[in-house]
Amino acid sequence: MDRYINVVVDLPLKNVDKPFTYKLPQRLSDKVVIGDKVLVPFGNRRIEGYVVGEGKKGDFEAKEIIKVFPFGPYFSKKMLDLARWISDYYQCYLVSSLKAMVPSGKVKVKKKRVVVLAQSIKESKEIVESLKSRAPKQAKLLSYLIDNPEDRLISTKLAQKVNTTSSTVSALVNKGFLEYRNESVRRDPFAHISFKKTEAFSPTSEQKIVIKEIIEGLKGDRKPIMLKGVTGSGKTEVYLQAIDRVLRGGREAIVLVPEISLTPQTVARFKGRFGEKVGVLHSQLSSGERFDEWRRIKEGKIKVVIGARSAVFAPFNNLGLIVIDEEHESTYKQEDHPKYHAREVAVMRAKKEGALVLMGTATPSLESYHRAKDGKYKLIELTKRVKGRPLPPVEIVDMREELKEGNKLMFSRSLYRGIEQVLDKGEQAMIFLNRRGFSTFVQCRECGHVMKCINCDLSLKYHAQERGLRCHYCDYQEKVPRICPECESLYIKYFGVGTQKVEESLNEEFPTAKVARMDVDTTRRKGSYERILSKFKSGEIDILIGTQMIAKGHDFANVTLVGVVTADTSLNLPDFRAGERTFQLLTQVAGRTGRGDKLGKVIIQSYTPDHYSIQFAKDHNYDNFYEAEIAFRNATAYPPFSSMINIVISHKDEAKVIKNTNKLGEILRSKILEMDSEEIMILGPVQAPLAKVRREFRWQIILKGKDIGRLRDVNNEALIELKEIMGESDIKVSVDVDPLTML
Ligand code: ADP
Ligand code: ZN
Ligand code: ZN
Repeated sequence: MDRYINVVVDLPLKNVDKPFTYKLPQRLSDKVVIGDKVLVPFGNRRIEGYVVGEGKKGDFEAKEIIKVFPFGPYFSKKMLDLARWISDYYQCYLVSSLKAMVPSGKVKVKKKRVVVLAQSIKESKEIVESLKSRAPKQAKLLSYLIDNPEDRLISTKLAQKVNTTSSTVSALVNKGFLEYRNESVRRDPFAHISFKKTEAFSPTSEQKIVIKEIIEGLKGDRKPIMLKGVTGSGKTEVYLQAIDRVLRGGREAIVLVPEISLTPQTVARFKGRFGEKVGVLHSQLSSGERFDEWRRIKEGKIKVVIGARSAVFAPFNNLGLIVIDEEHESTYKQEDHPKYHAREVAVMRAKKEGALVLMGTATPSLESYHRAKDGKYKLIELTKRVKGRPLPPVEIVDMREELKEGNKLMFSRSLYRGIEQVLDKGEQAMIFLNRRGFSTFVQCRECGHVMKCINCDLSLKYHAQERGLRCHYCDYQEKVPRICPECESLYIKYFGVGTQKVEESLNEEFPTAKVARMDVDTTRRKGSYERILSKFKSGEIDILIGTQMIAKGHDFANVTLVGVVTADTSLNLPDFRAGERTFQLLTQVAGRTGRGDKLGKVIIQSYTPDHYSIQFAKDHNYDNFYEAEIAFRNATAYPPFSSMINIVISHKDEAKVIKNTNKLGEILRSKILEMDSEEIMILGPVQAPLAKVRREFRWQIILKGKDIGRLRDVNNEALIELKEIMGESDIKVSVDVDPLTML
């Protein structure tokens, strides 16, 4: 009997977002399962697709599958269920959700072109003799290869070995004495690091209690657990001991960390405890490397995966635990389709697979803490730092007063003194700026004109090195104008503070200090991030300046001062989460000091020192902050008291964008009227805060309401109607459910 299967095809289009039935040719009839990747005819093309179920013979003769790709199945039935949930909740195509789960791109084996001897050793030795007098460099190079036949070097590296250039190599290749050969390399990003085996600490009394609760959760109801623990309270050690339990029970674990803290330091803690069983997934892996790691998980060689967001899809079949470290981090939300939040996906996956979710943080997101208080999550706490280390005292400096007192430096007198003392004692300091893109803009002092990107309508950022302006969104660049393009005034001023300016200023004020900067500019090259950190760790750097990058996870015993240049930059963003972000950030940076045996100190500078986000960060008091913030959310009906959907329409032609956004607004209004649902609000249509990106204009509508299900239904129906009106069109409509940013 013929067998039929259902396939979703890899074409992200609304009208093909459903399974199509195909027939299996005889030779494949018993070789295909759910989760397999296949090649199918579609219209007059051949495209890839995924098998999502058994099919039935229909009225029309079904086309035949062309081929089945190796290494399948790519997902299990449970993961298919999860993909369906993601598509439904985040309103994206099923195939997009599936593709988020499976290794992407063509699987390539990494190759390099090495140089090897073309003749036998004996013949090569004779050639060396004949070359010695006429071409000594060539002879030397050849001898090197004769002596080191195991060295598989590319041309330039080989030439370096004998102090010559690759032209010597090519000369020998041309003569037929050497040849190039393509060899595959399996690269392990951590191959050069040997991990010291570590043993479990005997837990503190607080750790003992929470570990017991987690073990009960693993065996019992598996309600998600929120572990709230101050910085340095030993949360990671708790994760390690919980994972150990899971492994001994024959199950597997996923550890999600923010991309930025996926450092060798973090990896070492897990590899040190669990060795070869640990796999690492992060965004800098090539598609081939990712694929290797993915297969090793599937084959059961890996039992613990540490990774960023997408590691939540690791193809384990016996998942016991998902740890989410720094639960509040916004990098857990994917910004492209499917715009999922890894925490929500983790909770849903765990529910489907009978696993436990353990979220840890010092500053839970408002949403999660609200759920914990509601009893949807179980709340457990670590209130003390390990070894009785105190949390560092925090001083808030009012920068308005500094100016009044005649101090025009970017450092308050207090921070200045703090740095002096640190340098005197041979200790270290971290100076923190809490946002990069929003600081050093260039403005005319006469007319107020701000230099903006011609493509994106965002303020351009001043870069001291090239004395130029650059857009951080599309990389557009221009020179700083001598006169204002608006009013021709000569008074152009660089506003705000960037990491480069802090560095210049520190070098001026403390010429003997060794200062380094860590931001997107200094860490663009692979490995530079680690290099700066290890220099700081070894004491070659006295003061490290940085952005968010230095706020996370690092453990430096000699850091006794943390300075925040201005706390206000993130507080003044047009976003209802600004207060929450600021509190989280300040608490995070404050946690970077006093981790060793020496006491630490934190100095936060601000122009709005009375804001509750700053005041409660001073006291390290999350609960008071939560009470203030949740009252604000309640009064304004923002999440967690409502849900939101952000719909962005974009195109090169602004008139089209406005017309269609208005049309969508009308449709939504009439739908809501029909439903007689007063609790759904429509915000907009408005120009998006990022009004123009890469030459495309953007307008948006935000839906806000208590019931996310109803919001999605309304939105879905409205978009279908809009598409019918638009017909074939290249206007982009992007839907973001539970958006984390409105930009
Ligand atoms: P967190 O993840 O909460 O910031 P960590 O797990 O990194 O805290 O712990 C902080 C420091 O205390 C680390 O250096 C860790 O090795 C150490 N530590 C954790 N638990 C213990 C323990 N039970 N006994 C001794 N040292 C511990
Ligand atoms: Zn001007
Ligand atoms: Zn731009």
